[in-house]
Amino acid sequence: MITRENVPLASLTTLRVGGNARYVVECESIADVREAISFARREKLPYAPLGEGSNVLASDNGYPGVVLHIRIPGIDAKDEGETILLSAGAGVIWDQLVAQACVRGLWGLENLAGIPGTVGASPVQNIGAYGAEVAQTIAYVDAIDSDSLEEVRISNESCEFGYRDSRFKRERSLIITAVSFRLRKHGSPSIAYADLRKKLEEGEKMETPKDVARVVKEVRGHKFPDLRIHGTAGSFFKNPVISEEVYAQLKERYPELPGFSQEGGVKIPIAWILDHVLTLRGYTMGDVSLFENQPLVLVTKKGARAEDVNALAEHITQEVLRVASVRIEREVRAFE
Ligand code: NAP
Repeated sequence: MITRENVPLASLTTLRVGGNARYVVECESIADVREAISFARREKLPYAPLGEGSNVLASDNGYPGVVLHIRIPGIDAKDEGETILLSAGAGVIWDQLVAQACVRGLWGLENLAGIPGTVGASPVQNIGAYGAEVAQTIAYVDAIDSDSLEEVRISNESCEFGYRDSRFKRERSLIITAVSFRLRKHGSPSIAYADLRKKLEEGEKMETPKDVARVVKEVRGHKFPDLRIHGTAGSFFKNPVISEEVYAQLKERYPELPGFSQEGGVKIPIAWILDHVLTLRGYTMGDVSLFENQPLVLVTKKGARAEDVNALAEHITQEVLRVASVRIEREVRAFE
C-alpha cells in the first residue's frame, strides 16, 4: 500500500483546484481499501474515496484526512447468452471500459463514450449523456462497507438510482470496488438527442456501438473542454426538473425555452438560460469562466482557487433564480 503525505488536491482533480490532502493512499485492491480505512481509524482521521476527481470541487483548505485513491484494475467478461456481464474494477478509466464494450460489439455504454472519470464513480451520480445513463445497464455494484469492512453486493434496484443521483451520494460508508454491467449482444443506436440525429442525417455511419461511440466523442469534442487545456468538472449544475405550471409560466416569458417532459415534470436546459437570457456564455470572474461552447460547464485557469469557483457558481445560481425563479443545484460535489 503506497501512502503519500501532503498531496495537492489540485493535482488529483480535473478542476485543478484545492489545497493539500493530509494523506493519499493508492488503493489497488480490496485489501488496500481495508488497510487504508483501518489506517485512518487508527489515526482518528476522516477518509473519503476519490477516483479521477472529475466531478468534485476540492477546498482551498485541502482535506484533513485520508484520501482513498481508488485504482483497482481489471475487466472481466461472462457470457450469459443474449447478454454479457462485463465487470470492471472501480479504478478502471470509464472510457476504457466503454472502448472494451464497443470492441466486443456490445450495446449499452456507447452513448456514454468520452465521459471523464472512473468506473467506480459512474454509479455515484448515475452518469448520463445523450439519453443513456448507467442505471440502465448496471447489474450490481460491489463495495466495502467501511463500518464493518465487509464486502457487500448491491443490486441495481437497491442503488436507488435517480437523475444524476444514487444512494452512494448519501451513504458515504460504501466504498465502491467494482461495477458489473449487463450489455446486449444485439441492439440499435439510440439517437433521440438532436446532436446525434443531425450526425446521422449528415451521413455518419452509426451501425455498431463502436460507430456510435466515435460519433458521440466527435460531438463532445466540439462542445466540451479539452482536459489537456482547461481545468473542468464538466457540467457544474444539474438541469432542473420543474413542474408543468412553472414551465408554462417560463414559456410565456421566454417562448423559445426548450423543455423535455419526463417523470416529475419538465427538464429545462440551464445552458439555454445562461446563453439566451443572461448572455453569460464565456463570462469570466478571476480565473474561472463559463465555457464558450457550453456555458453550463465551468473552466478554470492554472492557479484558480475553489473560492473563485464558488464565487462564480453562486453568482450564476443567483442570476438564474432572479430571471427564472428556479434554484439550481450543483452536480459537482464538494470534497472537503
Ligand atoms: P444538449 O444536447 O445540448 O441538451 C441540453 C439539455 O437538454 C441537456 O440537459 C439534456 O438533458 C436535455 N435534452 C436534450 N435533448 C433531449 C432529449 N431528446 N430528451 C431529453 N432531454 C434532452 O446537451 P449537451 O450539453 O450537449 O450534453 C450532451 C449530453 O451529455 C447530455 O445528456 C448531458 O447531460 C451530457 N453531459 C454531461 C456532462 C456532465 O458533466 N454531467 C458533461 C457533458 C455532457 P440531459 O442532461 O438530462 O441529457
